Amino acid sequence: MTNYISLLKENDLKATIQRTSILASIDDAGHINIDDIYDNVKKQYPTLSLATIYKNIIVMQENNVIVEVPMNGEKSKYELKKDEHMHLICQECGHIKDTKITSETKEALIIENFQLKSSQINLFGLCEKCQSKA
Ligand SMILES: [Zn+2]
Ligand SMILES: [Zn+2]
Repeated sequence: MTNYISLLKENDLKATIQRTSILASIDDAGHINIDDIYDNVKKQYPTLSLATIYKNIIVMQENNVIVEVPMNGEKSKYELKKDEHMHLICQECGHIKDTKITSETKEALIIENFQLKSSQINLFGLCEKCQSKA
């Protein structure tokens, strides 16, 4: 269980109830879009507006607490900032699976003498479930 209050403070953000509940919702789901975050947070705080959630998401993104994952033709999803990883994104059901960056990719960076600061590798396709439905 992540300590959202210290996570926010480490990144120079005030720990508000709005922010910690958004983070809990993201953490719970792994990867989640804003509408689903809104549905979750609303259950606990019915007065929170979508605009407020949106504003907080942008601030937390700018402060490296959460990361936006673009979805092909759909609303972006968000995840907590984690160690470097790749995304396997299903274009059918929208499921996102985290997977390790291959050692070949890491080797290539060493060979090119490229100092990696941040990365996002998103691979789009069909998940196991959706393949068997086809
Ligand atoms: Zn799928
Ligand atoms: Zn991820």
